[in-house]
Amino acid sequence: MKTLNDFNFENKKALIRVDFNVPLNNDFEVTDDTRINSAKPTIIKILEDGGSCILMSHLGRPKGEQSEFSLQHIVKKVEEIIGVEVKFIGNCVGGEAETAAANLQPGQILLLENLRFHEEEKQGGETFAKQLSKLGDIYVNDAFGTAHRAHASTTVVAKFFPENKCFGKLLAKEIESIDKVMQTGEKPVTAILGGAKVSSKITIIDNILDKIDHLIIGGGMTFTFIKAQGGQIGDSLVEDDKLELAATILEKAKAKNVSVHLPVDAIIADTFSNDAHTNTSKVDAIPEGWMGLDIGPHTEALFAKVIEDSKTILWNGPLGVFEMPNFAKGTISLGHAIANATENGAFSLVGGGDSVAAVKQFGFEDKVSYVSTGGGAMLESLEGKTLPGIAAILN
Ligand code: AMP
Repeated sequence: MKTLNDFNFENKKALIRVDFNVPLNNDFEVTDDTRINSAKPTIIKILEDGGSCILMSHLGRPKGEQSEFSLQHIVKKVEEIIGVEVKFIGNCVGGEAETAAANLQPGQILLLENLRFHEEEKQGGETFAKQLSKLGDIYVNDAFGTAHRAHASTTVVAKFFPENKCFGKLLAKEIESIDKVMQTGEKPVTAILGGAKVSSKITIIDNILDKIDHLIIGGGMTFTFIKAQGGQIGDSLVEDDKLELAATILEKAKAKNVSVHLPVDAIIADTFSNDAHTNTSKVDAIPEGWMGLDIGPHTEALFAKVIEDSKTILWNGPLGVFEMPNFAKGTISLGHAIANATENGAFSLVGGGDSVAAVKQFGFEDKVSYVSTGGGAMLESLEGKTLPGIAAILN
């Protein structure tokens, strides 16, 4: 696996695919600069080597050239974060971009205009990728968030740098973290899967059963498993067409010696609302007219025990409707348990969508080992897929 450390960038122009797809407010100000900060170590290393950086990214989903999606809006923010002046060019390919890249001096940064102003980016156009490749000497991919897309700048462009291509620091860290859980994790390895539906997590479960010792299940998908075992789930979320599948998963887990931990109690509500009347119920005896929206106190304690005994932890998906404060307690208590285990030496990876939002919202970001920056890319990695952006550097 080639990383930045395999290259000396002195007098070299690094063509870096970053993920600067940041949220903007109505005044086109960056409202969350996490992704820019995440790319900083890569940029700094190259500049410190005596190289220059040509940054390319997409922003939003423009249809052709739309000024509201211009990367010009983020120039000031990038300058502020990196601490170096950022030159901006209003296209990512063509004569102007080539001249700007050619004139770039060591220590300088050039930001190209939104890649997705060209349809060829998403189509993985080879001619377009070749045009991009003319801008730099070494291709660096540091955009985990788009590594699952076979786009021109994330995948196709790599073929024009057969020897001179590598992962940036962020992407390398993402790959290492996934490997630590899926390949080299110290046992016991525990995966916590929550979220709404079983159907969206099936491929993940199938892939990870060979790699884990404990599977904790929470969130809305709990109830499909409970109903599959004959429990009464009232009006809780359920996928009736997945009952057999849920039963099969439990059998498979047993055959592979994976201990499955399902909730034993639930916080139930009479409507899907933060203001609903609530009660605590056994998870398999929920009355009609009530639905389970969070795990109950016995489950919190049960899950915490499993987690605190684990050496490697993967968390994907909230354990309840954490967006509503009255049903966030289970997810918060899980965060505490993972933070404690991490403090005691476990490796913990939080990845994929809503669990990342929960970790940030409840202040656990710095208390777990790693929080993945890529939603879809993380999910596909957990499903066991080889991401095209990663394969393009490895090949
Ligand atoms: P996912 O994208 O599959 O990870 O699902 C995340 C969503 O699952 C969040 O919006 C949660 O509110 C929702 N969720 C978690 N627990 C429950 C539950 N018991 N009933 C309904 N939705 C839930």
